[in-house]
Amino acid sequence: MVSIKIATHTGFCSGVKRAVQLVQQSLSTHKGSVYSLGPVIHNHRVMEILKHNKLRIVSSIDNIKPGATLILPSHGSSHLTEFKASQKRLRLVNTMCPYVSLVQKICAKLNRDGLQVLIVGDRAHPEIKALLDIVPTARVITRMKEVRANIFSGKRIGIISQTTQSRRFFIDVVNSILKKNQKVSEVHIFNTICLDTSRRQEEVKELAGLVDVLLVIGSKSSANTKRLLVIGQAINKNSYLVESERSRFPAVIKKARRVGVISGASTPSWLVEKVVEKLKKYGGNKK
Ligand code: SF4
Repeated sequence: MVSIKIATHTGFCSGVKRAVQLVQQSLSTHKGSVYSLGPVIHNHRVMEILKHNKLRIVSSIDNIKPGATLILPSHGSSHLTEFKASQKRLRLVNTMCPYVSLVQKICAKLNRDGLQVLIVGDRAHPEIKALLDIVPTARVITRMKEVRANIFSGKRIGIISQTTQSRRFFIDVVNSILKKNQKVSEVHIFNTICLDTSRRQEEVKELAGLVDVLLVIGSKSSANTKRLLVIGQAINKNSYLVESERSRFPAVIKKARRVGVISGASTPSWLVEKVVEKLKKYGGNKK
């Protein structure tokens, strides 16, 4: 009999929950003319449902008819998008998480105060692209090897992180920057990793050490889900990302006595439940 241990922090975070509710409200109010530029959140199953409910996903504002509703994503969007949308008289529904919005304000303030802004995050992620849109001179560190000596021309710097960044990586980058750039005299560090992300990262560490197999539920496109997986794998090599109950489960589950389940912030609770239901068919017993 397998015992299944479910993490406390599973299901949507507050920001994603709010975003999905706003989209659903828009779809019921403005039938047939609600658009999104790419996915509103990074979860395939949720996006499938929203598309089924007539959310139209397009890659460019040029494909949206004037006067329609445009959903702006939970991870932020560029000013250029908002400018183009206003020119087309689109009705905007901004689902940006309040915490992402706060980080944008911190980033802008550091720049206004004359500091060289440095962002620890994935430069290809829409959240970081939106920050670069606000402060184009900001530097982004995605990998540790990008931290070099004399990376800054100025002596005053401000450091922030992507909201879903790994805490360990953020601390390591900050330490390395300070070590290699000794001429820097003033440093403002804002730990802008959101509380929900920090809690899940702490919990996955604990859970990974308690079980034979760890399942991280979420889409491969979700940055925070992938980070949970990396943290879990560092402690327990039998850690796997499972997108949903439709996915093939790792064969090691058949031999496991304890299976841990945690989810990314963009994975709904009902999807976690479906995975747990499937686990029970392996003889699983929820704890
Ligand atoms: S992970 Fe954090 S920052 Fe991102 S949407 Fe959720 S609460 Fe907001």
